[in-house]
Amino acid sequence: MEKGINILYLYPDMLELYGDFGNIQILKYRLEKRNFYCKIDKYSIGDNPPDFSSYDLVFAGGGADQEQSILADDLLKFKENIKEAIQKGTFFLLICGAYQLFGKYYKGVDGNIIPGLDIFPYYTEANEDRKKRCIGNIVIDVKLGDLSTKIIGFENHGGQTYDVFSPFGNVLYGNGNKFGDSKEGFFLNNVIATYLHGPLLAKNPNLTDFILKYCLNKKYNENIKLEPLDDGFEELCRSQLLEKFNIK
Ligand code: GLN
Repeated sequence: MEKGINILYLYPDMLELYGDFGNIQILKYRLEKRNFYCKIDKYSIGDNPPDFSSYDLVFAGGGADQEQSILADDLLKFKENIKEAIQKGTFFLLICGAYQLFGKYYKGVDGNIIPGLDIFPYYTEANEDRKKRCIGNIVIDVKLGDLSTKIIGFENHGGQTYDVFSPFGNVLYGNGNKFGDSKEGFFLNNVIATYLHGPLLAKNPNLTDFILKYCLNKKYNENIKLEPLDDGFEELCRSQLLEKFNIK
């Protein structure tokens, strides 16, 4: 395998909820099935600082407020390096707690402020009643290039995210960025930040291939064709779920 992608997996010991690690497994699986390599480096507090721009894809999952507050200062050290990587085109996939940390700040239930990287202008404030959380299955309508697709996932967040100027999708079922919101997540060029756990990429092979195609095309400067895989089982699961949520 001479071609492939290098992934940086951020804080795997702290940001991993509701199957987020499954996203890494799916990326690897769908690459290797097509004879591309998939190299995964992990970074957590105390490890050698990574050079974000040297990666094709950066992934970070969700975490509870406690973990977010522990790692926020560490993440802030990389602000300029992360900004540069985003500008140079490294793809960032950020789930839930990581989504929040790329914005201005996260205000916890007790009013404590966890500083964000402030790379994007949205901000998140937890609902004052800690029992009131956006929890459950979620489906959003998303445009990935020319393709319109329904993305299925699971959300569990107290944080309500405001001022998202470029959402990931329109909510068909579930909450989204806030209780009863019509918009979910944040999507700008090579950054997808979303509340969808799932694992997101296992439930949405279209999205996985969209991200892989982006990374490979950018790296090798060519229009790489991804061999279709047999997604019969995934499609069956998807149609069952969509039927259950009464979505046509
Ligand atoms: N702590 C954040 C919240 O409750 C993120 C939770 C998560 O990553 N699932 O909003």
